Amino acid sequence: MGGGDSDEGVAASLAIKDGKISAILPQDASIEAEKVFDATGMIVSPGFVDIHVHDEYFPDADTVQRCLIRQGVTTAVAGNCGSGPLFEESSAAREKPWLNLSYLVGNCAALREAVGRTDRYTPSTGDEIARMKELLRSSLKAGAKGLSLGLEYAPGTSFEEISALASVVSEFENRIVTVHIRYDDDRCIGAVQEVIRLSEENRVRLQVSHLGSMTMYHTRVCAELITQAAARGVDVAFDCYPYDAFCARAGSAVYDDGFVERWKGKGPECLEAASGRFKGQRLTFESLAEMRSADPMGLIVAHVMDKDEIEECIANPACIIASDALCFAGGGGAHPRIAGTFPRALRILRGKGYSWGQALSKMTTRPAERMGLDGGRLFEGSCANVTVFDPENFTDRATFQEPFLPPDGLRLVVINGQVAFEDGNATESKSGKLIRF
Ligand SMILES: [Zn+2]
Repeated sequence: MGGGDSDEGVAASLAIKDGKISAILPQDASIEAEKVFDATGMIVSPGFVDIHVHDEYFPDADTVQRCLIRQGVTTAVAGNCGSGPLFEESSAAREKPWLNLSYLVGNCAALREAVGRTDRYTPSTGDEIARMKELLRSSLKAGAKGLSLGLEYAPGTSFEEISALASVVSEFENRIVTVHIRYDDDRCIGAVQEVIRLSEENRVRLQVSHLGSMTMYHTRVCAELITQAAARGVDVAFDCYPYDAFCARAGSAVYDDGFVERWKGKGPECLEAASGRFKGQRLTFESLAEMRSADPMGLIVAHVMDKDEIEECIANPACIIASDALCFAGGGGAHPRIAGTFPRALRILRGKGYSWGQALSKMTTRPAERMGLDGGRLFEGSCANVTVFDPENFTDRATFQEPFLPPDGLRLVVINGQVAFEDGNATESKSGKLIRF
């Protein structure tokens, strides 16, 4: 058994009853049970906790949730990057999820939309901000985990607007603001400073999302800024996914004119359509323009990041692993992070000398603590959210051509005491819970 803070793990048997770990027994203890799973030679970890997913595009929810289970995730936080709906809406649609799910309310998809500020390039008025604060407060009262900001996706959003919203989050216990920062070019350093200030001034817990994909050429500096702020008492941290390409909707502001300059000469030949008519093709200015106007919800993968920079970020002791899983409607296309993030990150971390316990803590204990979620540890009485894998063979297989391919080497996933993955397949148990704060 491994995981948690224990670097080496211990050899033991786990007994599960009524959705809980009922006992942790010596490895050779004889257990009488309805079902026995022999995990000899395998690692039995707390189920992975993924604090950054997107299943809020409603038609894709099952695809995203099942892909996460197939890589060992048992608990996730959705609605990041400004795109989560009002909690009343997400909770109504998620009474019986596949895994344990918590929701953030997005400043773009929920709040700005709701008050009619649909032009993403202009700031909200004072009256609109006041109405957004009320909507956010009501979602937080109903059980949302917090607020997610998509500043790059709504460039008109002012500091005044996000500060007003963050102040609402700070009224509640155990909530968080997650941020997709404002710029993904050389201005990213200022963009990180902006959200550190947001956290500091409003005394609110803040998570900088998918750092590596936002901070090309500057990831080390940005990670250091966050680490220094945390050291002086600001409640700020960051996460990253282990891929050197990011992915966004074709219609997003990320692909507005000027990206070649922002990414230091990386042009449309670095962009790969992940859905629709051009799927699998590298784009030209013409095909990009056509995709943006005809298929704005289509997905484009941008192969623009540096592999070494991303791996260094993953291995930074402060970095939490999170997938940013999302896919195109109907499972038509995706980024391979939806299916491969956790085994891939484990492989990178092990290659950099991490012990299994240290590597697993970046996807179990640490994210659970950061989000104030149950889970991330196995002890007598804890929820039975468990992931079992073969350490020799646990490997991601998803590629940009076949992004949904599940990893090799996953053996068993238990969610709230029910088997959610066995014999190479996700079961139909749907034993997850909607988490209300
Ligand atoms: Zn994002």
